[in-house]
Amino acid sequence: MRKKSGRGIRPYLYIAAIAVGIIILGWLIFSKPVPVYQEKIFSSLGTVVRVNLAGDKVSSEVLVNIAEKEFSRIHNKYSPNTEGSLIYILNEKGKVKVDEEALFLFQSAVNYAALTGGAFDPTVRPLIKLWGFDDEFSTKRVPTQEEINQALSYVNYRFINIDKENMEVSFLKDGVEIDLGAIAKGYAIDLVIQRIREVDPKASGFIDAGGDIGIIGPKFKELPWVIGIRDPFSQDYFSAIDTIYLTNGGVATSGDYERYFISEGIKYHHILDPKTGYPARDAVSVTVISENAMTADIFSTALFVLGYENPALEYFTNFGIQALIISPTGERIETSGFNYFREKIK
Ligand code: AMP
Ligand code: MG
Repeated sequence: MRKKSGRGIRPYLYIAAIAVGIIILGWLIFSKPVPVYQEKIFSSLGTVVRVNLAGDKVSSEVLVNIAEKEFSRIHNKYSPNTEGSLIYILNEKGKVKVDEEALFLFQSAVNYAALTGGAFDPTVRPLIKLWGFDDEFSTKRVPTQEEINQALSYVNYRFINIDKENMEVSFLKDGVEIDLGAIAKGYAIDLVIQRIREVDPKASGFIDAGGDIGIIGPKFKELPWVIGIRDPFSQDYFSAIDTIYLTNGGVATSGDYERYFISEGIKYHHILDPKTGYPARDAVSVTVISENAMTADIFSTALFVLGYENPALEYFTNFGIQALIISPTGERIETSGFNYFREKIK
C-alpha cells in the first residue's frame, strides 16, 4: 500500500520541481535588473552641477566621473575668467585659433544671436562686467547712462568674425568681449550626454547644471523624470509653480532670482537686454523645453529678453522649442505645445 502511494506522488513532485526550476530560470533570464542611480554634485561653469546616472554596461560610478571630467574640460576651455581658455584669449587678444568643436559653439552662438534678433547676444560681456555680474566677487552697482552707452557700443554679435578656412575667431572691433554664459551650460550638458551614450548607450539619468537640465532616457527604463519649475516669486528654492515630465531632451529656466542685487529698492539681475544695456524687465522666469539642452539654454535667455508680450513667441516653436514665460505680475504665457509636457503618461 505504502509503496503504491509513494510511486503515485513522486512523478508529480518531479513535475512541480521542474516547473519551479523553469520559472526561476525564466525570471533570471527575462527580468530586467533595476538601474542603480549614483549622484554626484560638483561646481562647474559658475554653477552647481548635479548628475544622477545609472549605467547599463558600465558602472554608474564610472559614468558620473566621466560627466564631471567632461564638465571640467569644457569649463577650462570656455570660461571667460579662466586664464588660457579660448574665451579668455579671444577677449584679451581679439582673436583665437579654434578646433571643430569650438567652431560649432561659436557658430551656434552667432546663428542664434541672428535668429533672436540679438536678444541673445554673446558680445554682452562689456555690459556684464559693468554691472558686476561677470564674477561673484565683482562689485555690483548701477552704472551711469554714459557708462552704459559706452559699453553698448561694443555689443553686437556682428562684430564676431568666424573664419572657417583658417579655423580662427576674431573681433572686428577693439574692445569687444564675449561671454557664453547663456549657452555654455546647455552645450556642456549635450556634450556630456553624447559622451555617456558613446560609453553606455542604455544608460539613463539626468544632468542638472543650475536649472538647465538634460535627460538621458526614462527613469528605471520606463518612467518620466519629474521636473519642478521654480516659483520666481518665492524665496524658497524648492517651491514649484509647475511640473513637467520628460524622458528625453533638455529643459532650461532663466530667472531673475539667479543672480541679482537690490539698489534703492529696485532689483537688478544678470540677464541684460543688449538693446538697452539694462536688466530685461518683461519677464521674471522663462522655461524652455527642447530636444537638446543647448537650444533650451539659448532660448530661455533670449525669450527672457524678448518678454511676455513678444508677438513672435509662437514662431520660435519652428526651431523645436516650447516655452513658458512668467510675467512680472505673475501672468503665464506659453507656446501651444508646452502643455503636452504636463501630462505624466506618454
Ligand atoms: P542664463 O542663466 O542661461 O539665462 O544666462 C545668463 C548669463 O548669460 C548671464 O550670467 C550672462 O553671463 C549672460 N547673459 C546675460 N544677458 C545675456 C544676453 N542678452 N545674451 C547673451 N548672454 C547673456
Ligand atoms: Mg540660457
